[in-house]
Amino acid sequence: MVRELSHYVGGQRVEGNSGRYSDVFDPCTGQIQARVPLASREEVQNAVAAAEKAQLEWGAMNPQRRGRILLKFVDLVNQNLDELATLLSSEHGKTFADSKGDIQRGIEVVEFAAGAPHLLKGEFSTDAGPGIDIHSLRQPLGVVAGITPFNFPAMIPLWKSGPALAAGNAFILKPSERDPSVPLRLAELYSEAGVPDGVFNVVNGDKEAVDALLEDPRVKAIGFVGSTPIAQYIYATAAANGKRAQCFGGAKNHMVIMPDADLDMAADALIGAGYGSAGERCMAISVAVPVGEDTANRLAGKLQDRIKGLKVGHSLAKDSDFGPVVAPSAKERIEGYIQSGVDQGATLLADGRGLTVEGYDDGFWVGPTLFDHVTKDMKIYQEEIFGPVLSILRAADYDEALRLCSEHEFGNGVAIFTRDGDAARDFASRVEVGMVGINVPIPVPIAYYTFGGWKASGFGDLNQHGADAFRFYTKTKTVTTRWPSGIRQGSSFVMPEGS
Ligand code: NAD
Repeated sequence: MVRELSHYVGGQRVEGNSGRYSDVFDPCTGQIQARVPLASREEVQNAVAAAEKAQLEWGAMNPQRRGRILLKFVDLVNQNLDELATLLSSEHGKTFADSKGDIQRGIEVVEFAAGAPHLLKGEFSTDAGPGIDIHSLRQPLGVVAGITPFNFPAMIPLWKSGPALAAGNAFILKPSERDPSVPLRLAELYSEAGVPDGVFNVVNGDKEAVDALLEDPRVKAIGFVGSTPIAQYIYATAAANGKRAQCFGGAKNHMVIMPDADLDMAADALIGAGYGSAGERCMAISVAVPVGEDTANRLAGKLQDRIKGLKVGHSLAKDSDFGPVVAPSAKERIEGYIQSGVDQGATLLADGRGLTVEGYDDGFWVGPTLFDHVTKDMKIYQEEIFGPVLSILRAADYDEALRLCSEHEFGNGVAIFTRDGDAARDFASRVEVGMVGINVPIPVPIAYYTFGGWKASGFGDLNQHGADAFRFYTKTKTVTTRWPSGIRQGSSFVMPEGS
């Protein structure tokens, strides 16, 4: 039976009335399991109105009380972790353990955001002028929105909403239409934890809903994560509409393997970071850059050996290393890239096309794919594939490896595997990429640091989570004070100076 999903507005599930829907697949069976309503402009406007009304009281609440409600929410998510992870796997296709990780990395940011009283503190200076004190405070923006991708349907909505709510904003989430059920459950759990009705809302939809959010003057900020062309569109449109925006885009993450690296460690890391979640991670490694022919030959052999032992299977099967990709269009796109690699002359060491999984003939399966002798001019190197496809691009020396990482259009994550501290330090300092791992393949910073890529991977000034999240979701007010009993100077016609 095909379930019918809804929106979540004003503290309850609300049926869609636009008459437009999108199919939600079960990627393991290939069947349509639900349909999600695509909101009209008017439905989005209703959600914004509910959020605007609810924000006044929420924004005025003592931030410690807001933090307590968020901690209650974290408890509820933990209590419902298995159910949420199962639901997530059933629509996304990632394994149950990986779904738990998706949720866990999300609630870590909500836990961090519960420290809002500290993070919202302003500054104070006494005697900034004769008898003058000055202080700054951080105030919520009002109604803010998050537009999120399919590949982390729990983590990214939580990265956006946790700090936004903690800072006193009301939030409208427009999740991916591919896997909207977990965001809807999170909305229910926010309500159960005590978040007032209207403070956290979910509108499902496509471009129409996104444009309605972008054009609504009551929405003060937009946080986006998804592919680069859409990130650029949203960043430009939000700015043109006078909104604050932070938009994170696609990636092509390199891993440099130096001749002195522990090659088994590097190969294990590459297998996990390249193929985990079927490569559908913005921090997945998609390019291995071994330095020197000998390193490359040995690494390629180790990768081939490990690939033979990988198990692609149902997301809820305990022995699956990774599951299917999210949709038939994703499978088709990835297979197209594999063919282009072959056509452009890369050496195909492992071909994931044509994989079948017993009992699940119609699932969206793509097996682990490995190319060697990839070159800079190939499409499989230049573009984001977002599937289980790993390319080996051989570098003659360290300088060439560093240049490759720095010159690529994308700059999300990068890693170097080496035992040489000098090389690692030089790499971390000079590489033109936002997040760097040293013997760590997926360097996703923890909640109290910030997350964000450079170049075509990120648009906007402030990163996600960490202290930046509170800067993004608040506006600073600066108050200069003098009391009548203080020093009086009479009228002055010159610009006051600080000294
Ligand atoms: P996507 O760009 O297709 O969709 C992202 C969001 O934008 C969804 O909510 C979608 O409904 C909406 N959208 C799609 N087309 C739109 C349009 N024309 N106008 C307005 N809104 C539109 O991305 P996806 O396929 O869901 O996610 C995968 C992408 O996200 C990859 O490129 C991946 O690298 C990227 N990603 C980046 C990060 C990061 O932090 N940099 C994290 C996760 C994913």
